[in-house]
Amino acid sequence: MAGKLSVVATPIGNFGDLTFRALWNLKECNVVYAEDTRVTLKLLNHYGLRKPIFRLDAAVEAKKADEVVARLKAGEHVVYVSDAGTPGISDPGARLVSRVREELPGATIETVPGASALTAALSIAGIRADQFLFLGFLPHKKGRQTSLKRIAISEMPVVLYESPHRIMKLLQELERVISKRTIIVARELTKMHEEVLLGTASELARQIKTAHKDRGEFVVIVDP
Ligand code: SAM
Repeated sequence: MAGKLSVVATPIGNFGDLTFRALWNLKECNVVYAEDTRVTLKLLNHYGLRKPIFRLDAAVEAKKADEVVARLKAGEHVVYVSDAGTPGISDPGARLVSRVREELPGATIETVPGASALTAALSIAGIRADQFLFLGFLPHKKGRQTSLKRIAISEMPVVLYESPHRIMKLLQELERVISKRTIIVARELTKMHEEVLLGTASELARQIKTAHKDRGEFVVIVDP
């Protein structure tokens, strides 16, 4: 009988956010595949778990997917986790799942849902998120201007992920295309310095620069 692939969400900062099902799966599985084994080992150690762990990041996803397929054929229970949050959301995981589905239709692929910066940010943004457009990380070069135009004309809230190195650049670009709109920056969610900042792009840029808040992790939400 084919085995089981569990795609498990992990905390986005606060280890307390690991669900019971996630913990149970990490405890009971035969093997863990992780985007970065060092990151996931910290989580496993925190919960006193010892498991064989292998790297499966975007660069080796296709190749390692075959290894996972072989394990599932042998009836193993395989867990996949990305560094933080939900695999497949601006993270590896999708190619693994589609390869397993293609190669092994009899295998069980189950979701073990949990934290995601996307939903965590929306839950405290204070805006209606019945509908929203998630663009993840904007492309760095080709397609960036097109994405900025999409944000400007969107009638729904637009949610973006951004790294600390690029947050100021993004706010400057948003100022050019939507200078008067309210933007919500959700920073360091579930961590000690979690905060939500609101303002226009230029107000936020000033606030972040003067308070040296251009560190950590950011979700940016543009309110239409
Ligand atoms: N798969 C993850 C998820 O479900 O949220 C997202 C992975 S993506 C590579 C990482 C980005 O998510 C960060 O650059 C940041 O934009 C956002 N992010 C992750 N953790 C966060 C946190 N604690 N606070 C704010 N944003 C976070």
